[in-house]
This record gives sequence, structure tokens and C-alpha cells, in this order.
Amino acid sequence: MMNGMLLEGADLIDGTGGPVVRDAMVLLAGDRIRYAGPRTGQFDGAAIRRWQLSGKTLIPGLIEAHTHAAYPADMRAYVKNGITTIRFAGLDLATVSALRERIARGDIVGPRILSCGPMIDQPPPAYPEWSVAVRTPAEAAATAERLIIEAGVDALIVTQRVTAPVLRAVIAVAHAHGRSVVGQTWAVDGKEAADLGIDELHNSARVFVSRDYPTERLLRYDSIAERLALSGRAWATIDWSATQAILDTMVARGVRYCGMQVITQFQAGEGVAELEADNDFTTLFGAKERGSFGDFIRLLQGSWTAADKACWRVANEERMEWMRRFRALGGVLLAGTDMQFGGIMLHRELANLAALGLSPMEVITAATGGSARALRLEVGTIAAGRPADLVILRRDPLRDLAALRDITCVVRGGAVLWREPRDGPVPPPDPAR
Ligand SMILES: [Zn+2]
Repeated sequence: MMNGMLLEGADLIDGTGGPVVRDAMVLLAGDRIRYAGPRTGQFDGAAIRRWQLSGKTLIPGLIEAHTHAAYPADMRAYVKNGITTIRFAGLDLATVSALRERIARGDIVGPRILSCGPMIDQPPPAYPEWSVAVRTPAEAAATAERLIIEAGVDALIVTQRVTAPVLRAVIAVAHAHGRSVVGQTWAVDGKEAADLGIDELHNSARVFVSRDYPTERLLRYDSIAERLALSGRAWATIDWSATQAILDTMVARGVRYCGMQVITQFQAGEGVAELEADNDFTTLFGAKERGSFGDFIRLLQGSWTAADKACWRVANEERMEWMRRFRALGGVLLAGTDMQFGGIMLHRELANLAALGLSPMEVITAATGGSARALRLEVGTIAAGRPADLVILRRDPLRDLAALRDITCVVRGGAVLWREPRDGPVPPPDPAR
């Protein structure tokens, strides 16, 4: 625990998007931040330890808004890469609680874990082992109530086959309990979902209109791979003028979008070689994790032809353009991966956000304070009273976003979760003694 530790001299990026505080002071007390701001004399003579960090940059712990990866190796990769909060967007309750217990016991290292519970879908659900299938609005409401009250989920997620009456029922229960609803809706399009009051739409949601594939065609499929192939062909033939009403409604209603281009790029073969060459990939992950991800990708695109893959690449470009337009209208983008190896891939997704035109400061805000607001979290900003979740970088990420992985120390709840070994022990020895 870094109890009573004063971090001084670093540049502070506090997660709000406000200006950098040069030569800052941040006082940690227990699991909270007691002070964060410019250098001050108010702690002179106090019985606290001081840690000189000039030349370093402090940022809030990063937030991953959408994952399913539950391996201990993934938890370690998240922590080592500065991600101190992750949200499972569709995973069975038992896996999530077992993982939380292992982290709380100190059996494995890991980030804060939020959960949307299992995916709420209508039969037949796409991912049966991660889903709960509901047939009627009444059943949906009862399920939503049970997930929130009994299982204590942080948000709810609805997926592909959910229809408007069921979505309306889920949203009513979630909002009555102050919870968000996340959607990867396919039966319901982005405009309907926004009009019904959904809070977030994520990568595979139907947030566009195609010139060549009318809705009734898009709803006829027998497998995940077939639906995704259809999605690729439909995105590749996006009708921008018809899509405008969806963009406008989502922005007007404040619906956040989590694009997670990394997984769709990966499906097109993009970024695969870089991932396999990544030092964390080769040292933290073994045959088990790689094999299970290979199986997952085969489930997603097992039946694809070469033409499907070619369409998927065009679709990825169009989705990037969709996000550019969404943002230009004032829409808020979130950062997530939807894939294993998220500790590595979230940083790739941040590069995708930068490619959309976000400045380094905007990218950092999106993955910290901006995400925290959308996810209704107390973490995500470095300010007095907030949980002590922060990352100490060796260099300035505003000059080069790659510095977000040049980490010397990761702190969650006032505890050091990871320290770059070559930088020696934390906290450093007190120079006065
Ligand atoms: Zn997902």
C-alpha cells in the first residue's frame, strides 16, 4: 500500500481533458487520492514519504469497456499495460465471480472488474454459454431485475435477436436501478434502440442502412459466421444518406459508441503479425489462450469466402468513416477490444481512435474520464477523493501515444499492482534516512 505517499514533480494528466499540470503533486492516502494538483507547501514537514517523479507523467488507470477474456494471463496483461478497470460485456456470472475472488485473495493480479452479466438475447442466442434467453418482455424484465438485485451486475447487455418490446422492458428496469444498457442489437437498429433509451451501442450493432441489403434480408441467418458475413457485405454497401437519421438520433439521445475496430481488423488479418511479435504476447500467453482465441475466430468466420473477407476490409473502412461522422456530430466514442489479449489490443484501439482524428489528450480522456462517465464509475480521473488508480509513465504520451505502454508503475486502490523490474522497488528508499 502506498499509504501517505506523495508523488511529486511529474506532469499530471487528470483524465478530465483539462490542461496538463506540470510539476504536480498527488497525495495517496489508503486507497484514495487525498490531493492532486499543482505543487504546494501544505505537506511540508508532514510525516509522509515523498517519491520524486520529475520527467514522468501520471495518468489515471485506463478503462477497457468491453471484454470477454477471463484468463489470468489476460488479467496480468491488462495490469502490466496500465488498464486498471475492465468491464465484461457478456460472460456467465460464475466465471466473473470466481475471477474476482481470485484477484481479491491475491492469488492472481488483476484490474477492477465490472460486469454486464450474461448477454440478454432472444432464442436462439448466438453465444449460448454467455447468454440468457428471454421470450417475452415480462421475462426480460424479471431477468433484468434478478441480474441487478441478486447478481449485482454493473450494467446490462442486450444482443442480436432482442426486439423492441424486450429492449424497452430491459431499459425500464435498468434505468429504475441507475444502470446502463449496452447493446449489440441486430434485430433493432441504432435509431430504434436510441429512441428506446439505450445508453451504449457496440461494434456489431446495426447502426447503418445498406443500399443492397434490406432489413428483412439482414435478419435471415443461421450462424454467427453467416450473420457477420452479411454484416460485412451490408457495411460495405452503406447508404450514407439513410444512415444519417441513425447517427443523428444516437447523438441527440447521447448514446455512446464503442467501435472496437481491433477485433474486426484482426478478422481481416490486420494487426495479427504485430500481435504475435508483441513481447507481452510471447511472454504472458501460452498455447491454451492462443488456441482458445483461434477457436473463437473460427466460430466468427468459419464459413467465410475470400469475397467475404474482402468485403469485411471495406466494411472496416466504412465503420471508421461512420465513427468519424458520429464524432463530428458530437458523439462520444468509448475504447474497448472485444477480444483476448486486451491488455495489448486496447492500446491498438487507442491508435485507431487517434487515426479518427482524436488528439492524444482526447484519446487518453476517452479511455479514462470519458469512459468513467459513460460507465458511471468513480475511477477514471485523478482528483481528491477519487480511488487511487493511476499509472506512472516514463515519458510524455501527448508527444507519442506509444508512451502509454512505457510504464514504470501501476497503482490500483493505492496498491502497487505492477512495477517495471529494472526500475527497482516501490516505494523507493527515503533519501532523508
Ligand atoms: Zn463482445
